[in-house]
Amino acid sequence: MATVSVHALSTGHITIPERFFVVPADPVAKRTVPSLSFLVQHKDAETGKLTRVVFDLGMRRDLALYPAALTSHLANRGPVSTQPDAVASLAAGGLTVDDIDYIIFSHVHYDHVGLPKDFTNEKTKFVVGNGALDLLSGKTKHDLGKHMIFESDLLPLERTLELPPPGSADSHLSWQPFSKFPDAVDFFKDGSVYIVNAPGHLPGHINLLCRISTQPTKFVCLAGDACHDGRLLTGECDIATWTDETGRYCCMHVDIPKSKETLKRLYAASKDGVKVEGEDQPAEFEVIYAHNYEWEERAKQEGKFWPGKL
Ligand SMILES: [Zn+2]
Repeated sequence: MATVSVHALSTGHITIPERFFVVPADPVAKRTVPSLSFLVQHKDAETGKLTRVVFDLGMRRDLALYPAALTSHLANRGPVSTQPDAVASLAAGGLTVDDIDYIIFSHVHYDHVGLPKDFTNEKTKFVVGNGALDLLSGKTKHDLGKHMIFESDLLPLERTLELPPPGSADSHLSWQPFSKFPDAVDFFKDGSVYIVNAPGHLPGHINLLCRISTQPTKFVCLAGDACHDGRLLTGECDIATWTDETGRYCCMHVDIPKSKETLKRLYAASKDGVKVEGEDQPAEFEVIYAHNYEWEERAKQEGKFWPGKL
């Protein structure tokens, strides 16, 4: 069975009050968290062709590159770090924007989309989950806080692929069940990388499931914002909601029941592993969510940041 190499990319940090993540929470605690991105390298077994995918782009290198409404929101998210950004992190291992074939976004919140305009090469394609383009265009709106600001010109539409609605299939990318996951797209058609529907946080929210070794098989699940805190995964804490200074109801997640289902599924997979065709033992399954500061610390010590690998 085919595998891929996965490499963490350092792409900035933001600081968020704990009470926005979890309940119960320390009312004054704040946490500086990374907004992690990943490089995934795939080699075709027959042709030897190397394909490079970047999953999320994290923060922009300069806050002034965000629209004014987000720049003012980010004034309340300090300390913030914006360097290195995705381009500088790729360069640390000798890659340029021209080496990237696909950029897949877990979702289109500002702290994950980086600066797509850096990737000008015509060969570079963007992939988003179903519903992401309606958010960007403003057709779909969710008034759940100041982080819900989107840019209609974020992506070059002629190079952007929006996945079909989960459950449906088209000629290129068909959703099929994979192990515990009802909706998964076998991206390279060789079982090495699955785009997994992970609904709840934001329309079009997806995870990237990567097979990084065989015998024994191990998957890492790049989980974006499906989870913000390990205690949500285990069920020790619940998803937080809060009221902002204008009296508006706010939440990190657009659909809390769906987010909880996604969390349950991820937790079950991480605890019990996932059943893989042709193997007796369930495969190991590690959940890596974008804002996991503890994972970042360990990964740095263990050399998992590009050019190192997981
Ligand atoms: Zn986020």
